[in-house]
Amino acid sequence: MDLSFTPEEESFREEVRAFFRDKLPARLSTLVREGKRLRKSDMEEWHAILNERGWLANHWPEQWGGPGWSVIQRFIFDNESALAHAPRVVPFGVNMLGPVLIKYGSEEQKKQWLPRILDGSDWWCQGYSEPGAGSDLAGLKTTAVRKGDVYVVNGQKTWTTLGQHADMIFCLVRTDATAKKQEGISFLLIDMKSPGIEVRPITLIDGEQEVNEVFFTDVEVPVANLVGEENMGWTYAKYLLTYERTNIAGVGFSIASFERLKEVAQMQKKGGRSLVDDPLFAARMARVEIDLANMQTTNLRVLAAVAGGGAPGAESSMLKIKGTEIRQEITSLTRRAYGSYAAPYIPEALEAGWNGEDVGPEDAAMAAPSYFNNRKLSIFGGSNEIQKNIISKAILGL
Ligand SMILES: Cc1cc2nc3c(=O)[nH]c(=O)nc-3n(C[C@H](O)[C@H](O)[C@H](O)COP(=O)(O)OP(=O)(O)OC[C@H]3O[C@@H](n4cnc5c(N)ncnc54)[C@H](O)[C@@H]3O)c2cc1C
Repeated sequence: MDLSFTPEEESFREEVRAFFRDKLPARLSTLVREGKRLRKSDMEEWHAILNERGWLANHWPEQWGGPGWSVIQRFIFDNESALAHAPRVVPFGVNMLGPVLIKYGSEEQKKQWLPRILDGSDWWCQGYSEPGAGSDLAGLKTTAVRKGDVYVVNGQKTWTTLGQHADMIFCLVRTDATAKKQEGISFLLIDMKSPGIEVRPITLIDGEQEVNEVFFTDVEVPVANLVGEENMGWTYAKYLLTYERTNIAGVGFSIASFERLKEVAQMQKKGGRSLVDDPLFAARMARVEIDLANMQTTNLRVLAAVAGGGAPGAESSMLKIKGTEIRQEITSLTRRAYGSYAAPYIPEALEAGWNGEDVGPEDAAMAAPSYFNNRKLSIFGGSNEIQKNIISKAILGL
């Protein structure tokens, strides 16, 4: 196992850096660096730039518009993307549905939906969780009953991220109430403009509307929108989740935000000296830095195994746990470093162009919303406790 980059990979890194330098609009990188609110149009703008270069769906096969990169190239790209403060790629179409359609969709479905994900015609959201079916996802109750050429869908999804912008939702629905619970689930593609769909916002602890409830009342969905086979949805759902988990680990985001934490801790004084010289604070920072270095090595180790023909199994759960713990600790330390400046909640501070000087150092007002928002990392994509259960089953056989 060789964990160093080859000269070709290093020159690829330079190519990627040049791309970010030339093509990433300064307005967008400033918004991301300062932790400001991104509008739908901001996210779409960045998608279009990546798509023009052929780098939007960088893990898709070339046949469907991917660039044909190795896993190591993707790793380099993701890290450089975070270091350049590029907006994240909205994952639902590109990273979640795309791979499922490519592996399990019909030719017609691939031709119909994949190009529309790339060119931004469809904004997708994820309809997995329900009240009472989060960790126990297979317990979901939303039903789809076949009537001729349509399924009639009734039920409720919740925590639907960015569903307020979505044109389409991919949903897990129950198509057989009599089978064992994992065996009665199907994977449906549903038009959010269908009669009978209602989207209601949920306001999160940081004051933002990022998630929603979605209600379905007698919603008719063409049978052609069933992915794969009826009652086989659980297999597709699990396949999608491994993609979701590896993405959440976010090594690049941690590296970029840790750099910012170091600057803040250097700048902030306690008893006349910088916070970085405070032994307790410095020890917590050192621990994060060590964990982050270990995490990078583990990530590369997993990628090297994948490049050698292996598949990430319980490792994606390990990366999810450790990666999200690190990200949460960094937001916690950043909030602490700003001290009382991070205390006021100022929704306008999240808007581009807001002048925050009167409540302390630059981006202090974003430290608390960012801290609160990132509590979600250990919950979604399967909570960290559930990931520990997966690891103990897969590795310890418990
Ligand atoms: C901000 C945010 C965005 C989200 N976006 C989406 C989205 O776009 N689409 C979507 O479908 N879902 C989304 N989710 C839902 C997310 O996947 C669920 O919240 C998650 O799976 C946990 O389910 P739950 O909230 O029902 O909690 P529960 O399952 O009720 O769990 C509550 C607590 O009990 C623990 N627990 C439960 N069972 C066990 C067990 N067997 N062993 C040990 N501990 C256990 C959990 O770890 C957790 O701490 C989002 C969630 C959040 C917070």
